[in-house]
Amino acid sequence: MERYLTHVILHEVGHTLGLRHNFAGSLVYDGTPNTPRSNSVMEYVVDADAIYVDVPQSYDVQAVRYLYNLSSEQPTDLFCTDEHTRVEPYCNRYDQYSDPLGEDYGPTFLLVKELVLYEILPFPALAAAFDHYGNATLQWARSGTSADRRFAYNIAMAYVRPPVALPPDAGPGFGPAADDLARRVLSRLYLDPVASRGVFNATPAESSAITPAAVADIHGILINVDGIRGFQSRRTMVDILKSMQSLGAYSALRQGRDTVATQAGTATGSQKLLAEDLLARIDLALSPYYR
Ligand SMILES: [Zn+2]
Repeated sequence: MERYLTHVILHEVGHTLGLRHNFAGSLVYDGTPNTPRSNSVMEYVVDADAIYVDVPQSYDVQAVRYLYNLSSEQPTDLFCTDEHTRVEPYCNRYDQYSDPLGEDYGPTFLLVKELVLYEILPFPALAAAFDHYGNATLQWARSGTSADRRFAYNIAMAYVRPPVALPPDAGPGFGPAADDLARRVLSRLYLDPVASRGVFNATPAESSAITPAAVADIHGILINVDGIRGFQSRRTMVDILKSMQSLGAYSALRQGRDTVATQAGTATGSQKLLAEDLLARIDLALSPYYR
């Protein structure tokens, strides 16, 4: 407790000396026992790491020396602050490790999905975790390098992208849960209100990094390529393709229409009604496609 309070007081004294937050601090921590948890007391570190940041760190010393004319050298340590959290995916409050996506957010988001897919917990019990770790993972899909965008998108769609291959130990709820999670991930990425997306909330710009993969996944769900997709998801995929306003999405919607028309022709009962309604939704989105 004393070390934790010391950390908090150092942070606040840092502010009085003129230091701003440094949310890049935790990027120096590679997870091995003897590396620093942060290069700065001005980082928001998780409580478990805060007790290891109970003396001024390298960035703090550099910054104070520069500010008070004890050195002409500007700090060379990594630095980012509050406004960067919206534009730089590696600039996060309360993150951990030099690779926060690969070592923290990504694996935890996969775990959240596993808990739902294997029916260990229902989605509502994990909704807050889905929001936190899903949004954090998707911030790299929204921006960053092509490699990071691809990596983040693949984590976000892992287990749930079409065609889903049901694992041998899957229970009866696996398919419906995969359908529900895929809809939630793609909707969060492209369709959900900005306010629900977390601090990093831009709709991904069209790019070769993830757009072709996303359009292919959305098309696969729209036509129910793996037989586990419900009409709620399929309707959402129409809305996403419409929102994209791109030639690739337009083409996917056109191709999807042909398949859905065939399905509506052979379906019976309520499935036929729902397929015809989906077809009507596609037609509305297509005529004309461009707004
Ligand atoms: Zn502060």
